[in-house]
Amino acid sequence: MIVDRYAPSPTSDLHLGNLRTALAGWLLARSAGGRWLMRVEDLDTARVRAAAGVEARQLADLASLGLGWDGDVVRQSERLELYRDAVASLPTYECFCTRREIAEAASAPHDGYRAYPGTCRELTAARRAQLRAVRSPAIRVDARGASFTVDDVHAGPVTGEVDDFVLVRGDGQYAYNLAVVVDDVAMGVNHITRGVDLLSSAPRQAWLTAQLGGSPATYAHIGLVLNAEGQRLAKRDGAVSLRDLAADPSEVLALLSSSLGLGECRTTEEALAAMPGDQRFFQGATWVDGALAQEAAA
Ligand code: GLU
Repeated sequence: MIVDRYAPSPTSDLHLGNLRTALAGWLLARSAGGRWLMRVEDLDTARVRAAAGVEARQLADLASLGLGWDGDVVRQSERLELYRDAVASLPTYECFCTRREIAEAASAPHDGYRAYPGTCRELTAARRAQLRAVRSPAIRVDARGASFTVDDVHAGPVTGEVDDFVLVRGDGQYAYNLAVVVDDVAMGVNHITRGVDLLSSAPRQAWLTAQLGGSPATYAHIGLVLNAEGQRLAKRDGAVSLRDLAADPSEVLALLSSSLGLGECRTTEEALAAMPGDQRFFQGATWVDGALAQEAAA
């Protein structure tokens, strides 16, 4: 049985691109008779606190579109022990590098990410003790130059290098790449629908899944909604959330479902009925926004 999840970070209202991905995941899970779980990724306490009320609005927006989830909402802020235990079970080392040192030592960025070259892996105990007096270390996983291949329904097999990525940040916060994997394993997630901006993280995360004894999921990385300039849709583009569009949810659902190649469906039931039996793939993976906001608000 497919178990997919939606994992919003409660730092700003969901925009049309987020909602489109949620609809795609919901449809892939429901059309296969599977489960769709909800996980609030609220580990970044400073940003979450600054965005009071956002989580409730995100959940209300999903519900108003008819995207219901199974079971209770899972919150990462309530699962710190799981992350701690996972870190303790992995080969790790302390890293004292500053951002600047990493930028200087690392390979050219790939999708904005610089693979960590392992600078701190072989520090002596004496040197570590010296550095600990100066700054608190991040904890990195010792991946020893692994690489890993994931299966994506749109992109096909995707192989990526696994560097010694951060598990715990210097300020003690558990890193996204750790928490997301620990939770997906613990929640029995075997199918991950999310934005294509996270495709390059998938090999790293699937590798970690295997290290933690889980089976890597099947991925469906969905194209982003772009603005008229071809950039990822964002708040600065104006009316992009359900609230600032002030449109009837059925209008928004019609736009989103047609952008997925399902025609203009005004309810999630209609969209489900429009899914071909063996659908794993969505048309129009990247959708250029154009006059979308005006259209939805009209
Ligand atoms: N919380 C992440 C985000 O909002 C999504 C993580 C994931 O789906 O793996 O971008």
